[in-house]
Amino acid sequence: MAAKVFYGSPKQSRLDASETLPMKLDKILDALHLRDRVKGETVAIKMHLGGNVGYSTIHPVFVRRVVKAVLDGGGKPFVTDLAGAVATAAQRGYTQETLGCPIYPVGGPDEKYYYVHKHPYKNIEEWRLGGMIADATFLIDLAHVKGHPSCGFGAAIKNLALGCMMTPTRSAIHDTNHYDPYWFPEKCPDPEKRKAIMEACPFEALVEDKERPDHLHLHYEMCNQCGRCLKVAPEGSLFIRPENFWAFQEACAISVKIVLSTFEPGKAVFINLATQIHTVCDCFGFTGQPIMPDLGVFGSDDIVAVDTAVLDMAAKQRIDENALPLSMEFQPHAGHPFQQVHGPFKDPYKAPEYLEKLGIGTRQYELVDVLPPVRPERVAAVYVSAAVH
Ligand code: SF4
Repeated sequence: MAAKVFYGSPKQSRLDASETLPMKLDKILDALHLRDRVKGETVAIKMHLGGNVGYSTIHPVFVRRVVKAVLDGGGKPFVTDLAGAVATAAQRGYTQETLGCPIYPVGGPDEKYYYVHKHPYKNIEEWRLGGMIADATFLIDLAHVKGHPSCGFGAAIKNLALGCMMTPTRSAIHDTNHYDPYWFPEKCPDPEKRKAIMEACPFEALVEDKERPDHLHLHYEMCNQCGRCLKVAPEGSLFIRPENFWAFQEACAISVKIVLSTFEPGKAVFINLATQIHTVCDCFGFTGQPIMPDLGVFGSDDIVAVDTAVLDMAAKQRIDENALPLSMEFQPHAGHPFQQVHGPFKDPYKAPEYLEKLGIGTRQYELVDVLPPVRPERVAAVYVSAAVH
């Protein structure tokens, strides 16, 4: 059965506050019956609070409306994120005063408060889930939509998958790319040849392995799969394969399943705010130029549906090539707009696909616009030409 995704467009019919995104977020919270669902609940509002001088994370105006809805409904809200982001959150406008509720580090200030979940996957044996998430009884996944160098795109799934886990688990999730071998040193014993392979990459994505000098190490985040290195590498020595890239997304899906396993059915909602969509994750600590127009606000009980809906809408947009940093290479034929930015193997649909296979959510959805923009009717009695100045 298709999941409902409630949607608010950034488009206004008139110059009226009631038609803007914060007000449409209110309508989405109403459509999700949030107030009726949180009475007596301890509500974790999981956000990405960004870092350093980033200013594209979700503005306190939006957060405050979510907090108010929880308080109105008799819930006990708190905002939570990783310790580093929480420690500097006030620099970006997030305080108890601006949000209306406390802000706690997801695993305590030193990441010593977590619960271990065993689920072997490639290099990962155990998953360390932040205690503040595990202890909450209701979850609001309040995510900002942006590009991502590991998987093309970040939104509700990535906000939970990385942002609820402790540093060793987050590092291990990133390392899943390296689990399946991609460098075969016996096929390239010549150090000069290895140097030439590294120099063939314009993005410095290939470096010498620190522990094994005869190995090359690929920084998957920096690789856009252009294939230049493969033209230099001896046959069979180097592989740039989609499976290595997709491992990150499969690990994200497992992580989200673990996060959601700590909540009873019906005790989680997922909200994506797709504004100021820039190239990379908010953890980079800065905000780049928007690479596509704002898409709006999306809310659902289904995490797979809400990310898929954003991706489908993003698929209809054109990347503003001029907004990309000069160090990046635009690939107009790579597929989805986020693949055009990050490369064809960083397929943003993979994480929702894996999560659906794990039995969480559906990619089938019905988009319900909570306040569709309509062209205002005007009475045009006589034709009057516009004034020319
Ligand atoms: S595929 Fe392109 S970006 Fe990736 S390592 Fe090779 S040269 Fe660098």
